[in-house]
Amino acid sequence: MKALVHTAPMRLEYVERATPAIAPADVLLRIAAVAICGSDVHGYTGSTGRRIPPIVMGHEAAGVVETVGAEVTGWRAGDRVTFDSTVYCNECAECRLGHINLCLNRQIFGVSAPAFRRDGAMADFLAVPNWLLHRIPAGVSFEEASLVEPAAVAMHAARITPIEPGAVVVVVGAGAIGLLALQAARIRGAGTVVVMDVRDERLALARQLGADVAINSGSGDQAEALRAATGKATAPVVFEAVGIGKTVQLATDLTAPGGNITLIGNVQPTIEQNLQLIISKELTIRGSAASAGEYSICIAMIADGRLKTAPLISRTMPLADGQAAFDALHAAEAGLIKIVLRPDGAPE
Ligand SMILES: [Zn+2]
Ligand SMILES: [Zn+2]
Repeated sequence: MKALVHTAPMRLEYVERATPAIAPADVLLRIAAVAICGSDVHGYTGSTGRRIPPIVMGHEAAGVVETVGAEVTGWRAGDRVTFDSTVYCNECAECRLGHINLCLNRQIFGVSAPAFRRDGAMADFLAVPNWLLHRIPAGVSFEEASLVEPAAVAMHAARITPIEPGAVVVVVGAGAIGLLALQAARIRGAGTVVVMDVRDERLALARQLGADVAINSGSGDQAEALRAATGKATAPVVFEAVGIGKTVQLATDLTAPGGNITLIGNVQPTIEQNLQLIISKELTIRGSAASAGEYSICIAMIADGRLKTAPLISRTMPLADGQAAFDALHAAEAGLIKIVLRPDGAPE
């Protein structure tokens, strides 16, 4: 088979690789669409230590079951599926509690860190444990389904965050996760959703996806802008979907006393924060990791149109052109949110 292999910082090679062997509980998936995640782009620069070469990246994908292992029941060749990016064991204490995102033995597809290496979906085929699979309804395209993973990440963040019906919710960052978090917050009952980003074209997309207010946070006083839009300079709930010190600080500044901040963005490993502000406002700050049971509801809501992933797809490109796709995302070309890669001859 062909695979896009990350071989060195900033470098990807489209090469011949052995088709993965499947374990008795695996299915072999023919990949139809695989989206490039922001973490892949940060990873290929070599800066995160989470894409140690050589690695086949790709944890946001959809495809067709090609063959099934001897122990697999309920799945057969031809099934259209997507799958959880967290390879959880289904046996440890966390898994038994349903905290599959916190599995003690977890690996992530397309990630190589000091602790583990697990090739991902930027290839013709991927072996996937059958308990990670989710069926895609006929009306949902493979490209849309490849974004179920980030949609589930956003839905998980919204689900673990207390949102009062009708509440004002601020989303800092209008990349893919921010654009999905704004929709997830709405689904969870938010009344007014305010999105902040430094790029106007992303704010326009946020409006198109249902944001009530879009504020360019590149300059000016964001608290004042929030007050002008909602009547208050702070909000009870803020989602942070960037992951650097400056935007976490913005989230802290904009959260009302007693309020909740949920951190989804994960770029800068260590940040400096205003401890006094967090304590004196009695803020609850929580991290949100991957997803834990949100795939099914996301697939259902993509199918019925309440959750939109298609508008996030800026380009679809052949997997063979992976290097160019990564370079375009790294250059942060205007208007680019998501690129979906399709292997040669991928199913439609
Ligand atoms: Zn991702
Ligand atoms: Zn486990």
